[in-house]
Amino acid sequence: MNFNIATIPGDGIGPDIIEQAVLVLNKIGEKFGHTFNYTEVLAGGAAIDAKGEPLPQETIDICKKSDSVLLGAVGGPKWDNLPGDKRPEKALLGLRGELGLFANLRPATLHKALKDACPLKPEIIGDGLDILVVRELTGGIYFGERGRRDSINGEEAYDTECYSVKEVERIAKIAFDSAMKRNKKVTSVDKANILESSRLWRSVVEKVAKDYPEVELNHMYVDNAAMQLVRNPKQFDVIVTSNMFGDILSDEASMITGSIGMLPSASLGEGTLGMYEPIHGSAPDIAGQNKANPIATILSAAMMLRYSFNLEKEASCIEDAVTKVLEENYRTGDIMSEGMKLVGTKEMGELIINAL
Ligand code: NAD
Repeated sequence: MNFNIATIPGDGIGPDIIEQAVLVLNKIGEKFGHTFNYTEVLAGGAAIDAKGEPLPQETIDICKKSDSVLLGAVGGPKWDNLPGDKRPEKALLGLRGELGLFANLRPATLHKALKDACPLKPEIIGDGLDILVVRELTGGIYFGERGRRDSINGEEAYDTECYSVKEVERIAKIAFDSAMKRNKKVTSVDKANILESSRLWRSVVEKVAKDYPEVELNHMYVDNAAMQLVRNPKQFDVIVTSNMFGDILSDEASMITGSIGMLPSASLGEGTLGMYEPIHGSAPDIAGQNKANPIATILSAAMMLRYSFNLEKEASCIEDAVTKVLEENYRTGDIMSEGMKLVGTKEMGELIINAL
């Protein structure tokens, strides 16, 4: 098969890690008979330097025409003093909006070989963890009506949590579809004992669940979910939740896995076009030094194969190769521990390619 991928290396370590992900994809193409065509585009600080804006129209047009987008990271101290709407990070929000990406999928996977990096007790994590947080990305309190007004107590401020049936339906479907590709369990997280928007959320999720009889659904209040994530994280398969709750819980879930350099993410919309990127930033402190861990980006490419191109076998092949290299004790600096073999960005990429 033939796929067109827009690549956005971005800033800092972005180019270092995208290079390795592309090499891995090329090897997958060779092995399974696919052709991946890449168009590199600018966003973030690199785009500000070249074009005077963080998200040029040309980038949006090319991303929209592609089958998928692979992004490194954007931002860095060079652009820190620019006003809000001129900053590199603006490119991320702009791309999500332009591409209609309303679902953010963040797996929190703890590899057996990296168990020591997990801050939880060994008996809690057993032989590893594999949770997928599905966060609603374009609705809720981050996008609701907000403002300031006078009250009898003086000035006050307000933000509004608002969800429509349609918004909940589409994110719930993504969660159930993802669960069908995993362990067939969905936990919907809300605050339905207090919030009306959560009560609507809960009833819509229950309705969508009827189309997925094989998937087990349970509901959990967000305060309990935050606690259960550290108390008994193995009970979770897919967690689906609103924008703000997802923002918080996905960070909590990733902390459990120990390293930011290992975690991929996907942002999806109605069609198959998605944007795939590591959860970490541009790490300007180690940019261009062959020190960045490319695994989060390589695993993001695996998610792209699974979710946008429906190439499950190829996606698993990448994930298995990463596991194998970790089990052979190779580590980049961020996940290094005593007795392990330290390698750089390029060597880690090569080892994964050889393991494919
Ligand atoms: P960061 O994730 O870039 O770095 C935090 C720490 O983790 C640093 O010590 C860094 O060296 C390390 N690190 C991150 N990724 C690594 C990897 N792959 N391998 C090895 N070590 C890694 O977060 P920050 O320092 O808060 O932000 C730096 C810049 O990135 C800022 O401009 C910020 O706005 C931007 N940022 C961008 C995104 C994105 O593009 N999605 C996300 C977060 C932050």
